[in-house]
Amino acid sequence: MKWVYTFDEVDKAEADVGGSWDAVRGLLGGKGANLGDMHRIGVPVPPGFTITTKACNEYIKLEESFPNDLVDQVESALRHVEEATGKKFGDANNPLLVSCRSGAKFSMPGMMDTVLNIGMNDQVAAGMLDHFDDDHFVYDSYRRLIQMFATVVMGAREEPFEDVLAEHRERRKVTDDSELGVEDLHQIVDQFKENVRKYTGRDFPADPNDQLRMAIAAVFRSWNGKRANDYRNAANIPHDLGTGVNVQTMVFGNMGGDSATGVAMSRNATTGEPNLEGDFLFHAQGEDVVAGNRRTDRIEMLGDKMPSVFGQFREIAKALEDHYRDMQDMEFTVEQGKLWLLQTRDGKRTAQAAVRIAVDMCEEGLITRNEALMRVQPDHVDFFLHPQFAAESRHEAVQRGDMLATGLNVSPGAAVGRVAFDPDLAQRWADEDKPVILARPETKPDDVHGMLAAEGVVTSRGGRTSHAALVARQFGKPAVVGVSEMHIDLSDRTLTVAGRVIHEGDWLSLDGTNGQVFHGRLETEVPDIDDPWLTKLLGWADDVREIDVWANADYPQDAERARGYGARGIGLCRTEHMFFEPERLPIVQRMITAETRAEREDALEGLLPHQREDFAGLFRVMDGLPVIIRLIDPPLHEFLPSWEDLTSELADLKIQIRSAANLEEMNRILEAIDEKSHMRTRVEAFREQNPMLGLRGVRLGILRPTLTRMQVRAIFEAACAVSLDGIDVQPEIMIPLTSHVAELARQREVLEEEAEAVMQEQGVTINYKFGTMIEVPRAALTADQIAEYAEFISFGTNDLTQMTYAISRDDAERGFLVDYLSNGILEDNPFFTIDRDGVGQLMEIALTKAKSARPDIEAGICGEHGGEPRSIALFHELGLDYVSCSPFRVPIARLAAAQAAISTKGAPAG
Ligand code: PEP
Ligand code: MG
Repeated sequence: MKWVYTFDEVDKAEADVGGSWDAVRGLLGGKGANLGDMHRIGVPVPPGFTITTKACNEYIKLEESFPNDLVDQVESALRHVEEATGKKFGDANNPLLVSCRSGAKFSMPGMMDTVLNIGMNDQVAAGMLDHFDDDHFVYDSYRRLIQMFATVVMGAREEPFEDVLAEHRERRKVTDDSELGVEDLHQIVDQFKENVRKYTGRDFPADPNDQLRMAIAAVFRSWNGKRANDYRNAANIPHDLGTGVNVQTMVFGNMGGDSATGVAMSRNATTGEPNLEGDFLFHAQGEDVVAGNRRTDRIEMLGDKMPSVFGQFREIAKALEDHYRDMQDMEFTVEQGKLWLLQTRDGKRTAQAAVRIAVDMCEEGLITRNEALMRVQPDHVDFFLHPQFAAESRHEAVQRGDMLATGLNVSPGAAVGRVAFDPDLAQRWADEDKPVILARPETKPDDVHGMLAAEGVVTSRGGRTSHAALVARQFGKPAVVGVSEMHIDLSDRTLTVAGRVIHEGDWLSLDGTNGQVFHGRLETEVPDIDDPWLTKLLGWADDVREIDVWANADYPQDAERARGYGARGIGLCRTEHMFFEPERLPIVQRMITAETRAEREDALEGLLPHQREDFAGLFRVMDGLPVIIRLIDPPLHEFLPSWEDLTSELADLKIQIRSAANLEEMNRILEAIDEKSHMRTRVEAFREQNPMLGLRGVRLGILRPTLTRMQVRAIFEAACAVSLDGIDVQPEIMIPLTSHVAELARQREVLEEEAEAVMQEQGVTINYKFGTMIEVPRAALTADQIAEYAEFISFGTNDLTQMTYAISRDDAERGFLVDYLSNGILEDNPFFTIDRDGVGQLMEIALTKAKSARPDIEAGICGEHGGEPRSIALFHELGLDYVSCSPFRVPIARLAAAQAAISTKGAPAG
């Protein structure tokens, strides 16, 4: 078994796995594969080798022992690196030092272990002194090895080591470790060795081969560490992939003033702007930059001090982007003026950056339009519709003096919550449904669970590429980092800024879009989506998609938003929602509880103008586009007070009567009792065992034809009036919950008669369509009969799923469905992602049958699934004309529809 590949064996790895780059990444991990690949295209990469993910899995399987032959293969690869570098591992005169880093197929930044400077001991350090003539560098490297080795490999805590460093900084009155003197470092090395003995019960291993073996084992083990597990759960990465281990020649960014180390993205990972973005430090090692405890410089400043290195770096960044055809996240080191690349990978980015980078790269000719469309996840689009702080609320906060500070805006969006200073508390509060802001001096991989639980993250230290920034961006958490004027005292559990002391549990509001931190709770609002890159991308989506996107909207302002977001019609207006308005509900109740026809007609008269006004508003907004209006659907008891409430109110009144002060009051109470008892009798008459299967939908319309007539009259009076104003009105009238064609035939008669009457009265002709929802399996199975009467059908997949599964959604989502999902009986919630096998099949049958009777029948879907990307893929395959979803899902649905079209067409075209 080949467990080890040197960086110049990437061609061999490719051949061994059958030529697919994805499989090479699976074998060597993303970092290892890319190191080999960079070496192959001529990017300067320090020599090294990769131990495969298979070796890691084997190590775990063998209960933490190395597979046969691994040690021999590592040794021979090490000899190869010695030849390439002309140095020798463990040789005091000309030592080779190596790093040992994890690297899984999918990058998990900072979640697994790394050890640097492996190969040093007292003799090697002494030998290096002769060679390098830089005591400071040598002893600084040595103390770093001991510290990392102790904490990462031997399991010691970080604090005793940090305490030693702090004590020396204090003694020398310096703030930065790089300012410590050589004598300090000598002492630190001794104190560190003592710490290792004291806290692990073992000595720091002096043999470089032991160091390397132990470090490799530690990296393997870190695959199953808590933070790696948490991260995989959150990022949906399978747990059985294993990590590769990269052993690589050390290059030193801490070898004096002409050395540096840094990380950079080939484009801005927050905004997507096409500029290099990154941080670096002169005279430092890699972890100094990401840890965020030293103030870093912006990458442009490298150009001031080392113009030719900076120029070379820019060229390499461009070459890597061109090679991988995506934005790159790179680690580099400059050792005494020579540039080395230590890593490159596709960079994590915010939703905003994902959109801009995809569009820009397409316009630069690097990727095709279809590729650009496939690069952006529908969830990314969702971000643009997420709340931002309301301008007025922000203004007031500034006026009140509640704006505390501004830091780096590394992950956009608004977040409001109670401040927590440790990740466990943040998680606990979030579990109790309390919104939390996690505040830390800087974050570490161990904090990730708290970051995921929090609404937003704020740190006092760290730059744009700090751990906090990377993780927040990846998971779309608003974050502000490097708020240097903010002091967080973890033992006191306070945050001090701008002369104010904020205690744990106080409210904070963070604006990750511009980096502002506020005291208190600011109000949020949903922005308009006017981002030019998103607009362009969605325009491309519209060119590609085959299924139209409409919206479910009940009110003109919803319709307006939907149209603004790109909806091409209203697929569902639920007319009953208008009945719940406070001034209308009493009329609706009067209509329902009326005892005489005259009383009922009077109430309906009262409702008519309201409905007419609502419909006119919708028609005006949707000028030129179809508007599907569904006649009343829910059982009437939903508009009445509950039987239980009425009963307890009656009991109260009966008690009050005993203590009535006078006759007048007594009469008032008696009157109220009368009224409530009457209402309760009516409510009793409407009580059903299974309202979901009861008197609702078309059944109601049939039993109460006057209600249908009133709604139809309102629709046509509105349509006539609006069309006289020159507006192109396209009403479609939809009957809910049909199960038998005879229901439809009967309703159509009533409806046509009323529509005709109104058009006659008004002297206007309106072209309209008549159709029905398919929400009942029987309707799906007899869709050919239904199509004789329906010019359009619309799948109500909420009810269709309920009726197909015989599951009441509202009860089950609070009950057994939760268990079904956690036990894996169901993989997905069928009310969220359409059930292909069952409901999907019914839809297919219905469509085929409906088209056999009426080939040009219009067919769409207006259940919740209409805005869900995986469901949209099925609706596209079925050949529906449109999906209709909530206005806020419209942009997501436009992209998902385009992706469905591209996926079924196969290879991306232009
Ligand atoms: C449906 O059942 O899918 C539907 C759109 O109707 P409602 O959600 O109003 O029952
Ligand atoms: Mg329904």
